[in-house]
Amino acid sequence: MQHSTESIIQRCRDAGLRRTKALELLLETMLESHSPMTLADLAEHPNLAEQCDRATVFRLLQRLMDKAIVRRLGLHERAAYFTLLLEGRHQDFLICSDCGKIEAIDAPCPVHKLEKELATKTGFTKLYHELEFFGICPKCS
Ligand SMILES: [Zn+2]
Ligand SMILES: [Zn+2]
Repeated sequence: MQHSTESIIQRCRDAGLRRTKALELLLETMLESHSPMTLADLAEHPNLAEQCDRATVFRLLQRLMDKAIVRRLGLHERAAYFTLLLEGRHQDFLICSDCGKIEAIDAPCPVHKLEKELATKTGFTKLYHELEFFGICPKCS
């Protein structure tokens, strides 16, 4: 499925968020990035650095998380990563509980089958999941 900044902005507006230049740039930056980004990555990104400060970026991220447009990953504030939740684009992650390094799992997700079974059994629709596996990365062990 193709995603454009415009379609995500529409999702934000439907969720009651005000369209601002900073919001637009933030969504654009996250959409372009193929991996989750930290608050520092985002705030210092050339797209955003001149447009808004770190606190603004963080506030926007919080609003986007409240509306389930952005997912937060990781263990603690220092090593938190942010990524867009996009329909049809699903990713689970491995996270080092020592250094906070994050890695997308490069294997077909085994949980989708379980989701289908759950939907049949429970009558829940629009099921989704977010998986994070924690461990110690090769560099830290
Ligand atoms: Zn590590
Ligand atoms: Zn999964």
